[in-house]
Amino acid sequence: MECLSGQAAFQGIAIGKIVEVKKEDRLIRREHIEDVEKEKQRFFNAQKEASTQLGALYEKAAREVGEANAAIFEVHQMMLEDDDYVDSVLNIIETQSINAEYAIAATGDNFSQMFASMDDAYMKERAADVKDISERLIKILDNKEQKNENFSENTIIVADDLAPSETVQLDKEKVIAFVTRHGSTNSHTAILARTMNIPAIVNVPVPEGIDSRPAVVNGYDGTVVIDPDENILKLAGKLKEKEIEKRNLLAEYKGKPTVTKSGREIKLYANIGGLDDIGAVKQNDAAGIGLFRSEFLYLQEKDYPSEEKQFRAYKQVAEMMAGKKVIIRTLDIGADKQIDYFNLEKEENPALGYRAVRICLTREEIFKVQLRALYRASVFGNISIMVPMIISLWEVEKVKEIIKEVQEELASDGIPFKEVEFGIMIETPAAVMIADELAKNVDFFSIGTNDLTQYTLAIDRQNPNLTMFNDTHHPALLKMIQQVIDAAHEGGIWAGICGELGADMELTERFIEMGIDELSVSPAMILPLRKRICEI
Ligand code: PEP
Ligand code: MG
Repeated sequence: MECLSGQAAFQGIAIGKIVEVKKEDRLIRREHIEDVEKEKQRFFNAQKEASTQLGALYEKAAREVGEANAAIFEVHQMMLEDDDYVDSVLNIIETQSINAEYAIAATGDNFSQMFASMDDAYMKERAADVKDISERLIKILDNKEQKNENFSENTIIVADDLAPSETVQLDKEKVIAFVTRHGSTNSHTAILARTMNIPAIVNVPVPEGIDSRPAVVNGYDGTVVIDPDENILKLAGKLKEKEIEKRNLLAEYKGKPTVTKSGREIKLYANIGGLDDIGAVKQNDAAGIGLFRSEFLYLQEKDYPSEEKQFRAYKQVAEMMAGKKVIIRTLDIGADKQIDYFNLEKEENPALGYRAVRICLTREEIFKVQLRALYRASVFGNISIMVPMIISLWEVEKVKEIIKEVQEELASDGIPFKEVEFGIMIETPAAVMIADELAKNVDFFSIGTNDLTQYTLAIDRQNPNLTMFNDTHHPALLKMIQQVIDAAHEGGIWAGICGELGADMELTERFIEMGIDELSVSPAMILPLRKRICEI
């Protein structure tokens, strides 16, 4: 039995079996293989798939940024078929009887070193390209295996860290807890755990090689017990029973309005990442959806989701919520939410980089597909649109211009749509400071405290080493929230909070005193928060 502890990111008890998920940029293991021909075939299959992917990327890039800029994908395709490169991989597999991944990684390293040492600037640049194609091949081989990996019931995921693109691939029916060696309590993995209502612990010094071992995860005190003995199992079972009892007690708040004793009604909405979460929203009786992180639709795909696919998703959520408000946030990609097919450049400071509305305003064709899908779905329920990461008024005006164009196109195509509430997220200090101006141009504000905290306190929300400085109740933050609520009310619009702070019950009374109109939290927090508000 081994007891480890870390930081609890979401409460709950899980009793299950560990599945170790390896990171994409993990060290490639050198594995002895018996069947050399089979291993070579694995390489050829990956090579074929990589070539198809690059062909598609070329087509898309040519359409979006012109043929000259797309040419790099042709170069990659050629490199992939380069005789020297292929011979080297096959030779390493054959002579050393080792796995294709290792042979590809070794070839990639050798070739990139060779290119980097050349005198010619053009050839030097090819060093990064050869690494890139090697990574693509390894990822393809890796994904294939991940797909085959069938999680059994009660899977406890253990990983170094989990990127949003990795978490969306997991079989959510079977996963009952997340444990990561790194990561922060404010990362999207933690947020996902809250949405799934399963315990999550970050920063746990879990040793390697613990796959398939039984474990108990305690999201209340942040401990993980590997190979638990009878006593621990009994204790965990009891805690689990208590959890169920507590949940049953909260059930009496279902169907009740969220009103303080003095009669103030608060809109209590839920945050979701996709259609799979609607069941939890209904079960917990949220009055609506205050944040649908639409980028999760993109994270699940291998290529840009089509207008039709997005339309069906937005229509379905609108219909399932049967007239209740559904606030769909437009694409918030970038920073920690990276998607390969967006081909975003690596950045020094991704949180301060090319993300969210900045992508939408510079790659309008992608934004327009989403907006068309949203407006087409608008007639099937009570949809609102919300834009993330606003810093300036011109961005709001530009988004509205694009919306107008989309509406005109739909009208001329004879496709029905209706006007919807249009809001923005207030998650940058700049937006707070000009909230009075912004309020004149939108229908609502939703305060994204996760990012607002990060940008106000200058604390990277992904950085686990800054926990002691990360004062989520910092007076600067609370003053900003007050300022935003006041600006909203003076401008005649409503203001809510959709960041994680909205569920912090130590602040609920304070938020109500400040005049907050709406709180949007993970589905599992709806009933505890309703209880809290009703007691105020
Ligand atoms: C936020 O920043 O508070 C927010 C709700 O958005 P996300 O966590 O998806 O960045
Ligand atoms: Mg945010």
